[in-house]
Amino acid sequence: MAHNKFVMAGVMGWPVAHSRSPVIHNHWIRQYGLQGAYGLFPVQPGKLEDAIRGLPALGLAGCNVTIPHKVDAMKLMDAVDPLARRMGAINTIVVSPEGALHGFNNDGFGYIQCLRDAKPDWQANAGPATVLGAGGAARAVVLSLLDEGATEVRLINRTRAKAQALADEFGSGVQVYDWDERHEALSGIALLVNTTNQGMHGQPDLDIQLDRLPQTALVSDAIYIPLETPLLKAARLRGNATVNGLGMLLNQARPAFKAWFGVMPEITDELRQAIMATF
Ligand code: NAP
Repeated sequence: MAHNKFVMAGVMGWPVAHSRSPVIHNHWIRQYGLQGAYGLFPVQPGKLEDAIRGLPALGLAGCNVTIPHKVDAMKLMDAVDPLARRMGAINTIVVSPEGALHGFNNDGFGYIQCLRDAKPDWQANAGPATVLGAGGAARAVVLSLLDEGATEVRLINRTRAKAQALADEFGSGVQVYDWDERHEALSGIALLVNTTNQGMHGQPDLDIQLDRLPQTALVSDAIYIPLETPLLKAARLRGNATVNGLGMLLNQARPAFKAWFGVMPEITDELRQAIMATF
């Protein structure tokens, strides 16, 4: 992408005012001395098609899509990346020079990368992984763990049928346990991931006992408000290494920025501080 051109992108969501994506992308635009801007687009559900069809006409390089548009936006693409197709949702649109719309999903990349940032020698096949939750974040986490070589993912959701549907789709590497079995399902694992909303600001703590969790297991939470959820605090106090959700949020933005602005951006302490200042 030409560096002398003013490049515009943004995020479509409803509501979207809370999105941290403008802070992230505008920080990188300044850091790399680029000409461009990243904005917020409040797009009502019934207006998604008009908004997406308008991207090439407006000359945007692309945009992110967030709740509630991630699934519907995929149907409006001219081409969908195979990984996004398997995830069943997109979070990034790239407009080609000819005006074609390409859909991607970088949440899984963001998740794996945040583990590697915290633990450079992290390996998906180090042992079983237990994933709590079966919503959008869980899809990205489970699929990316399997793609990285995980051989046993124990999937546990309050509504078992949703976990079962994911397992049916993703194959024998995923085994479903009952919500009541969540405490026992921590024995012998190398990774515990919370993708439920429990422990998020304004929500109750995640109800789980960690006594069976090996001390060598890495514990990660997709939640980033607060940065240290009660789960991560309890894990840290008993000696487990922990990874919060901020790294996933920041890392998923990197491939999109590269596609629009031509630079693979780095995550600096300044960027982390800028985001934390918005909490
Ligand atoms: P979602 O699709 O709405 O899924 C929510 C999940 O939470 C479901 O599995 C749901 O279970 C479970 N849940 C809700 N209330 C519960 C309760 N009382 N007890 C047990 N489980 C409960 O949401 P999502 O998009 O996957 O997001 C989930 C979390 O991940 C949010 O906190 C979000 O902020 C975070 N997230 C972070 C990133 C990042 O970049 N760091 C990216 C995406 C999401 P049921 O199926 O039984 O309802």
